[in-house]
Amino acid sequence: MHATTSADTEHAAVWDALADLADPEIPVVSLRELGILRGVRSGGDGTPEVVITPTYSGCPAMGQIEDDVRAALASAGITARVVTQLAPAWTTDWMTEAAREKLRAYGIAPPQCGSEPTHQAAPLKFSRQAMRSAVVPCPQCGSTHTTETSPFGSTACKAMYRCLDCLEPFDYFKPY
Ligand SMILES: [Zn+2]
Repeated sequence: MHATTSADTEHAAVWDALADLADPEIPVVSLRELGILRGVRSGGDGTPEVVITPTYSGCPAMGQIEDDVRAALASAGITARVVTQLAPAWTTDWMTEAAREKLRAYGIAPPQCGSEPTHQAAPLKFSRQAMRSAVVPCPQCGSTHTTETSPFGSTACKAMYRCLDCLEPFDYFKPY
């Protein structure tokens, strides 16, 4: 049996090994900041388990993320399993404020979460439409004069937008 302190040390080493591991699609943001890296726990046999939750259940980057986590652990000489946990489902609310800032700096508009109190009184059946028409500020110039050009951007997780002021196209990380 491992003493609690030894498991804690082991888990801290796992966190350290994965601290700077970036999202394969957004290299400026770490998996931890995105909320994809959920936690480290001890498996039934005492082996550390890294719990990851995909941003979308069909996210094609997930295989890449699992491989990256395994590679980072291996290069740190750590033996651990990678466990993909689908419930509770990932939400953009798990993204840290730092991650949102980095997305913006990278040119991707961060998800607009809970930023529509004015729509609260609208009937429920219009809420989907209200979300679609949410104002997405341009990450380049900050203008709110933007328009969606395609519901799917470089990945299914993002939509394509275009700023009508600076005319720059940009990706919008859709709220989920
Ligand atoms: Zn702009």
